[in-house]
Amino acid sequence: MQEKDTRLSQLAHRAATLPESGELAVLRSEFSKIRDQAAAAEIIASDLRRELAKAELDVESVRERSRKDSDLMDSGSISDPKQLQNLQKEVESLARRQSDLEDVELEIMERLDGANAAVTVLADKRDALAEDESAMAARVARIMGEINAERAEVEAERAGLAAGVPADLLTLFEKVRADHNGLGAARIHRGRCEGCRLELPPTDIESIRAAAPDEVLRCEECRRILVRTPESGL
Ligand SMILES: [Zn+2]
Repeated sequence: MQEKDTRLSQLAHRAATLPESGELAVLRSEFSKIRDQAAAAEIIASDLRRELAKAELDVESVRERSRKDSDLMDSGSISDPKQLQNLQKEVESLARRQSDLEDVELEIMERLDGANAAVTVLADKRDALAEDESAMAARVARIMGEINAERAEVEAERAGLAAGVPADLLTLFEKVRADHNGLGAARIHRGRCEGCRLELPPTDIESIRAAAPDEVLRCEECRRILVRTPESGL
């Protein structure tokens, strides 16, 4: 039973300290960080697309007005030189305005290119992390499945063993085990208690030798239940 309990606490420890679980937690936090960054980059790019569409409209409306003025001048319907001169001035001023607006448009296009590149890089990174995360989650689930299967098996074996132990001895074992960090019973190995690792005094060895096989023996040092085996050195 002690062996089963020791195995169960090893399994619990393994489940609680699985390196893969730590790696999974790191991947999850990395993923959510990159996902947020990708979403933020996406918003920047979409704002720039809207800005670009507006800049294109601005350029187009100036171009349209300039075209109308030029058509009017070319039509020959205006004979007043003063009026023609004013129109000419306006066309020139519109050309400067168009050039300024085209600079703005170009600058937005460049920023949009940069934003799009950032979106691509971050989205690729995010997708790769999502893949890593799900692979690691599957690995953790598989290992946990193995641990739980073994745990169920060991628990069943322990229950089978416990059924064959007298109630008072079982109560004593549980009590000592609770008091001693999970180790309630220890073998005697070559005259030594495997619980506290101390050598049993010759007088104790004497009385252990004399004890009936079903007598419950305790280590005088650590109070654990002592188990006799052929390697006990008695
Ligand atoms: Zn001991």
